[in-house]
Amino acid sequence: MIFFVFLQIKIIKLKKKVCLLGSTGSMGVQALEVIDELPELFEVEVLACHSNADLLIQQAKKFKPNAVVIINDDRYEYVKEQLWNDDIKVFAGESSLCDIVEMSSIDIVLSCIVGIAGLRPVYRAISCGKPIALANKETLVVAGELMTQLAIEHHVPILPVDSEHSAIFQSLVGEWNNPLEKIIITASGGPFRGKNREFLQNVTKEQALKHPNWSMGNKITIDSATLMNKGLEVIEAKWLFDADLDQIEVVVHPQSIVHSLVQFADGSVKAQLGLPSMKLPIQYALTYPQREANKMPRLNFADYPSLTFEKPDMGTFRCLKIAYEASREGGNRPCVMNAANEVAVSLFLHDRIGFMDIPAIIEQQLAEVPFGKPCSIDEYLETDKEVRNRILKSYN
Ligand code: MN
Repeated sequence: MIFFVFLQIKIIKLKKKVCLLGSTGSMGVQALEVIDELPELFEVEVLACHSNADLLIQQAKKFKPNAVVIINDDRYEYVKEQLWNDDIKVFAGESSLCDIVEMSSIDIVLSCIVGIAGLRPVYRAISCGKPIALANKETLVVAGELMTQLAIEHHVPILPVDSEHSAIFQSLVGEWNNPLEKIIITASGGPFRGKNREFLQNVTKEQALKHPNWSMGNKITIDSATLMNKGLEVIEAKWLFDADLDQIEVVVHPQSIVHSLVQFADGSVKAQLGLPSMKLPIQYALTYPQREANKMPRLNFADYPSLTFEKPDMGTFRCLKIAYEASREGGNRPCVMNAANEVAVSLFLHDRIGFMDIPAIIEQQLAEVPFGKPCSIDEYLETDKEVRNRILKSYN
């Protein structure tokens, strides 16, 4: 009987309360699938999204969070009306998003927000000691120094959700005191692997959106096609694993089975492998240091008789090179690069520019915007806004 009571307490205590930021995007939806499959481990405490009110309402009715936040206030009345009978608090606006992460009942903040909007809420969450599971790239790309310092100060773990960083993290578990020689990040190469500049001049967004292995949101799919996604991941890896850029290498691996590797000082290389699915890295970030059984499809080596690796073509896919350089220079460079890339990708998705204009626009902004050293989130956001306005002015 005592054992029974103990067991019950243990189960109750183990249920992690998750605050999911960006619940209606591709990553957020997959995160909810993971949570749905492990109901004895997780409970959704907060759901937040930008403006997809209908999906947010549907998710809220299913997962019964304590509160939801819709960033776009125009949708507030509608969400409130639809959830009035469900005993769920409804908030709107960016400042609510930043306030809500401080809720004492939250055990972990999973940030799946796309873009620069992810910075403030994560900064606040770290400031009040909440562990972070991070899928938002901009947090570390734009403000890596600030964020990692804050995390160290507050003893807050930042657990990677991106498949490559999860693979590196999983390969490092149990090796924290062993000297790391190299991090090797794998890249699928995207839909245009092996193509030359002439070919890339005329590719359409439909071609660019056809990713060979991964199904993801539009912005990241274009980033995969330009290799900027890998550039962003190199910068993230530098901050997450406290590595020098010279220690971080990118290798193209078209099958996307080896999710990344680490090489130790003795020359030994460890890797994490699996089918290309974001659900496993999401689950690992949420259950770490535990591994939990699941029903996800298994890797069958007979289906992949050859796993191949090649050097990335940084001459053709300039974005990767730009990212290395921006990160090496530091300061506001990655922020300028990221903002220019985000606007350029959006212009490309709206048929306003060609594929090869994406690196050109980024290079132009890096050349024109002076070097600076932002030292607060506000200053980073200001730089970001300035770069966006500069580009939009010339395309309006
Ligand atoms: Mn990735």
